[in-house]
Amino acid sequence: MSAGPIASEVLELLRESREYARYLSELGVETIPHASVNRELLAPGPDPASPIDGAAKLKEGIPFPAQPPLASRAEQATRSRIVPREPTAPPASLFGDLAASPPSLTRSSETLEDIWHDIGDCTRCGLCEGRTQVVNTHGNHKARLMFVGEAPGADEDAQGKPFVGRAGQLLTKIIEAIGLKREEVLIGNVNRCRPPGNRQPTLEEAAICRPFLFREIAAVQPEVIVVMGNTAVRNLLETREGITRIRGKFQDFRGIKVMPTFHPAYLLRDPSKKRETWEDLKKVRDYLDSIPPKTSAP
Ligand code: URA
Repeated sequence: MSAGPIASEVLELLRESREYARYLSELGVETIPHASVNRELLAPGPDPASPIDGAAKLKEGIPFPAQPPLASRAEQATRSRIVPREPTAPPASLFGDLAASPPSLTRSSETLEDIWHDIGDCTRCGLCEGRTQVVNTHGNHKARLMFVGEAPGADEDAQGKPFVGRAGQLLTKIIEAIGLKREEVLIGNVNRCRPPGNRQPTLEEAAICRPFLFREIAAVQPEVIVVMGNTAVRNLLETREGITRIRGKFQDFRGIKVMPTFHPAYLLRDPSKKRETWEDLKKVRDYLDSIPPKTSAP
């Protein structure tokens, strides 16, 4: 190899290292232990068998019906508002790990306020009994990028906003690390009421609540949705694939690109996974940089 390509590879490596160091400093990491640098640089890649945590391992075993009957019923109520558009050929793009699958969404005419009005002081499932308040999606109503988590925790339940606790603060830093402000994106959850003891929402609870998320997606039409953790992955993508296997690969939700990645609460428990999250978010940033911003936002 001539000096030219080697020099440009070294420059590229330096650029990537600088970017990663900036990301880590955004996340508040001040020092990187030598051993962990070596491990991450020399032997990258997740252990595909490793579950998110003990509880997630158990959850992996729970069959996720492709079309839960309850989901069908709950979603039927909202489907009339989501206008299917003609399937389009999937773009032959670097970013299309999965071909887009019809039907895709067109922007619905309702606003987020319409949807929240409809949700009201919701009592559609048992989670209403333990919550303080409904925690609706929050952020930019014209966002190009949306983040979806699982369900509110104690801080979100108290403040009425998604991702305001420790995991939320980490999410804010991740958003900033890709050059965006939190106010520029949209942040929501599959479920809007805090499950008792922060347990994972049941399939039934998720199926009752997620149609509202789908309506929000149809109203805003973000260009990319980042789904964080197994609950968000399973409820948007209807797959049994665990986050460890599916993360980092663009998927499709009715014509919208979806990037699965680790949940920030998991990153708090296992900071070594921040590296992979950074790789996933860089793909999102690069994709958004590669396309013209949508112009038809309301
Ligand atoms: N975890 C979530 O999944 N959502 C929140 O809003 C907060 C923590």
